[in-house]
Amino acid sequence: MEEENRIITTNEIAEDEHEYSLRPKALSEYIGQQKAKENLKIFIEAAKQRGESLDHVLLYGPPGLGKTTLAGVIANEMGVNLRITSGPAIEKQGDLAALLTNLGQDDILFVDEIHRLSRSVEEILYPAMEDYALDIIIGKGPSARSIRLDLPRFTLIGATTKAGALAAPLRDRFGVISRLEIYTTEELATIITRSASILGIEIEESGAIEIASRSRGTPRIANRLLKRVRDFAQVMSDGVITKEVADHALKRLEIDNLGLDASDKRMLLTVMEHYDGGPVGLDTLAATIGEESDTIEDVYEPYLMQIGFITRTPRGRVVTRKAYEHFGIDYRKTENDYTISLFDEKE
Ligand code: ADP
Repeated sequence: MEEENRIITTNEIAEDEHEYSLRPKALSEYIGQQKAKENLKIFIEAAKQRGESLDHVLLYGPPGLGKTTLAGVIANEMGVNLRITSGPAIEKQGDLAALLTNLGQDDILFVDEIHRLSRSVEEILYPAMEDYALDIIIGKGPSARSIRLDLPRFTLIGATTKAGALAAPLRDRFGVISRLEIYTTEELATIITRSASILGIEIEESGAIEIASRSRGTPRIANRLLKRVRDFAQVMSDGVITKEVADHALKRLEIDNLGLDASDKRMLLTVMEHYDGGPVGLDTLAATIGEESDTIEDVYEPYLMQIGFITRTPRGRVVTRKAYEHFGIDYRKTENDYTISLFDEKE
């Protein structure tokens, strides 16, 4: 199945259009991510007391966990403007120069997928981040000369799904590096209840928990499932989302009690049936199920690893006993087999 066609895709799709109104504006409304929030609160407070711009911030973690939202919250708490762009959208040095020279004092530039910036753009980003200056070449050939343009002090907030994909010199220029974690069921239930009240949907606590536990630890999915379940509630129970309605709706949408859909199932079963549970290399697996390696790493795996269905070993991915049990398939591998295969890899 195309990633975009999955209800539980973590990528943004057309029906997430309400996302904007569902985005919390203040740090106090931003649910979960305690560690990131506590640190940011102090950095924001300190920067405000000194009357300075906030240090550059790098946010990393799987899609849909609230990186863009958090950038908006930070801008709001700092009382400055936010400009949103993305790595692939900044094609030339001139594109970045135009963005930077249009920023106001202390404004925030949010660059999503910052690991996809080109080398040449990165090059002019470094002095901009460090010295708030742009070195621009004017003219061509022997008459070309470089001029230095002063920029207002600004804050760069970069977001990426993998901090490891970032060039070290770029990573080193961020003063604050925060990793966003997958949400607990309780946190997601709180997010769902909050979104329901904004959208005017009536939901019982048990209904919110049912949706939350099937949302793969991801607020974007939680909000999307909430909207889908609402349709069933309207027809089945006067619009109120109860546990029964949520369960019925999610079954109809083919999302199982752990939030797994047909694509997850296909991937796990492929490893079990064709590779005897693994280890199987990422690229081999990607080719077998016809997916991009990146999609497997960024979208499928974070949640499957979180619930302990897949582990990464040096020789590839291994499906665990827990996953076999979930699908009611006999786990033939002995612990011994597994130890030996791990031992092999080190040889
Ligand atoms: P990312 O930028 O990491 O892909 P977003 O910031 O776009 O994710 O978040 C997706 C949606 O999830 C947002 O529209 C927002 O409504 C919701 N969301 C994310 N994080 C939170 C949070 N901590 N509390 C409440 N809602 C959240």
